Amino acid sequence: MPFELNAKIRNLSPYEPGQAKARIRLDANESFLSLPDDVMADIRACVDALHFNRYPDPSAADLCRAAAAWYGVPADCVTAGNGSDELTSILFSAFLQKGDRVLCFEPDFSMYAFYGYLAESVCIRAKKRPDYTIDIQAAIETARAEKASMVIFSNPCNPTSVGMSEQEVLEIVRSVDALVVVDEAYMDFYGRSILPRLAEFENLVVLRTMSKAMGLAAARIGFAFASPSVTRALKSAKSPYNVNALSQAIGAAVFRKPEAITHSVNLIKSSRDMLWQEFGRLARAFPDQLRPVAADANFVYTETAQCEKLFGHLLGSGILVRRFGDCLRVTAGRNLENVELIAAVESFCSSSSGGGDILCEAPK
Ligand SMILES: *Cc1c(COP(=O)(O)O)cnc(C)c1O
Repeated sequence: MPFELNAKIRNLSPYEPGQAKARIRLDANESFLSLPDDVMADIRACVDALHFNRYPDPSAADLCRAAAAWYGVPADCVTAGNGSDELTSILFSAFLQKGDRVLCFEPDFSMYAFYGYLAESVCIRAKKRPDYTIDIQAAIETARAEKASMVIFSNPCNPTSVGMSEQEVLEIVRSVDALVVVDEAYMDFYGRSILPRLAEFENLVVLRTMSKAMGLAAARIGFAFASPSVTRALKSAKSPYNVNALSQAIGAAVFRKPEAITHSVNLIKSSRDMLWQEFGRLARAFPDQLRPVAADANFVYTETAQCEKLFGHLLGSGILVRRFGDCLRVTAGRNLENVELIAAVESFCSSSSGGGDILCEAPK
């Protein structure tokens, strides 16, 4: 029989990240570090001990206990997901009803609008200021005026790498009559988590992931932290075996090596700081070409005068970054990768500066 896709899904296409062939990949905000040898040994032992014929623990209790201890929250406030991405998807599909309004911001993580669309909710997109910060009072007024059921944003923001203070986040959480989802995927690199205040708010959900700072992007492990009642609802809405047994064991093994996590975070932060300093140097040398925005996460976001050309020049040098309109997002990499990236940006700027066809516009 012929089959017709419904209008909602007809024009979607599968998620396809950039060309995986690039020699140097600074496009996906993953950790550039591989896991330490002792963690790898623990993971091998987990594989040997695993009963592959049995379903995993649906509550991922060991993993959630380890996460609760690491993040300093009670264990009945933790839900594990197949990446935090899955938890975002469940928050949209289960906590919203058709037509409910969601306040998101522009620019921010594009998946929010995508899941909002699938959930048949209405995304209200509030524009950020020219410096990419959120106007907190305006956001609160919009959430109230639009009767938003959910407010969602990333902190620090992907793609802008701009972080918000605890006070700004708290102001939103305590002022709106909505579920506030704070996606802290990059908080390990910024250190202003709202998690210590979790117990005070019934309407707060905080998302974290092991994909960025902890070097486990391949294992797909994320967490939602919320009040016990919201946590219970989230666990009731998820699919039963959403985190596979191998990932549960791997995540728990990584949490058993806290010094290794801290060490990785420090290495990534110093790579990020190096990249930020070098972008600053280039921006001073070529002010008509680059205007770096922020580096509160493990990546630098920069406005550029000739984004498409610069992106192409980098790709021609074997370096893949992410492009967002006139801006580039560059993930902190290994030292030699950063050095090559900076050299390629510099060679582009020195050959284009002055003769550049577009002068850098003032931020919109
Ligand atoms: C990378 C990223 C995530 C995804 O994390 P997973 O746990 O790998 O699904 C979530 N939110 C933002 C803003 C991200 O950049």
